[in-house]
Amino acid sequence: MPVKGWIEVDDMHCKGCALCVSACPQDVIALNMDRLTPKGYHPAHLIDEGCTGCAVCAIICPDAAITVFREVPVHSKKAPESA
Ligand code: SF4
Ligand code: SF4
Repeated sequence: MPVKGWIEVDDMHCKGCALCVSACPQDVIALNMDRLTPKGYHPAHLIDEGCTGCAVCAIICPDAAITVFREVPVHSKKAPESA
C-alpha cells in the first residue's frame, strides 16, 4: 500500500510561483485560483489524493512555504514471551 502524505502551504510565504506544481511527481498540486493570500497571490494547494509525502515540493519551494506530513504505519506490539 502506498504511503499517504499531505502538505500544508503557508499563505504568508507562498508567492504562487508554481515551482512545486511542476515538480510534484504525483501531479497533485495546483495553484488555487479561487482564493488569494493576504499578499495577493494564488496559493498552491493539494487537488487530489495521491500525495506520497516525498517532500520534493518542500525542497524546491524557494520560500519554504510547504510543510509535508507523512502517515506512519502503526505496527502492533509483539506480545511478551511467557515463561
Ligand atoms: S513553490 Fe512555494 S512559493 Fe511557489 S507556489 Fe509552491 S508553495 Fe508557493
Ligand atoms: S510531498 Fe511529494 S507527492 Fe506530496 S505534494 Fe509534495 S511533491 Fe507532491
